[in-house]
Amino acid sequence: MDRKINIAIDGPSASGKSTIAKRLCRELGYKHLDTGAMYRCVALKVSRTGINYKDKAAMKQLLDNIDIDFTPRGKVLLDGEDVSSAIRTNEISMLASDVSTQLAVRQHLVKLQQEMSKNKGYVMDGRDIGTVVLPDAEVKIFMTASAETRAQRRYLENKERGIKSNLRALKQEIIERDYQDTHRTHSPLKKADDAIEIDTSDMTIVQVTDEILKIVESKL
Ligand code: C5P
Repeated sequence: MDRKINIAIDGPSASGKSTIAKRLCRELGYKHLDTGAMYRCVALKVSRTGINYKDKAAMKQLLDNIDIDFTPRGKVLLDGEDVSSAIRTNEISMLASDVSTQLAVRQHLVKLQQEMSKNKGYVMDGRDIGTVVLPDAEVKIFMTASAETRAQRRYLENKERGIKSNLRALKQEIIERDYQDTHRTHSPLKKADDAIEIDTSDMTIVQVTDEILKIVESKL
């Protein structure tokens, strides 16, 4: 397959976007851009510097001096430091949702995301990819799953990563974050009109990947 396209995957927290995006990339030889990790990096830097994310001047300075990058193997680098695990705590998940309500943060990261994916051949996952970041993506998926399923998945994922978590607290955090992400003023989480919705609650990773691959093939 020579012609490459872009694939946008949006959906609520822990709906399986990143897992599926990685598998699609392996199958198609595409690059993955986990935009949630970028909001998490901003949150980690806010937390470490102790500034108020609503302080516009302080946030401008932070954004002017932040360096977010990904290694070819998918590690997340914040100002050169590998923060792949540090950005996955409950506290940073919630703070990422907080900082992502700020227009300046969104504008800064959307610009970076669009620059990083200038060429085709990207699978990008987030909340506003099909609506704002890549409105011309050839394939748009809106991935959902019940809150129970998503909490369970995040719990197992954390366990695999060696992060201790509490299932009930995880479910609560997921529900709170979804509410905030769906109700914010700037680029709220919503399905693009031309996105295909997939409820993955009762599907395996392989089934979801295969379904999306079929959609991709129909576009190529
Ligand atoms: O996808 P993930 O759960 O890692 O994202 C963390 C938070 O970053 C989300 O809860 C959301 O508030 C924010 N986010 C966003 N737009 C994106 C990706 C993530 O607002 N494209």
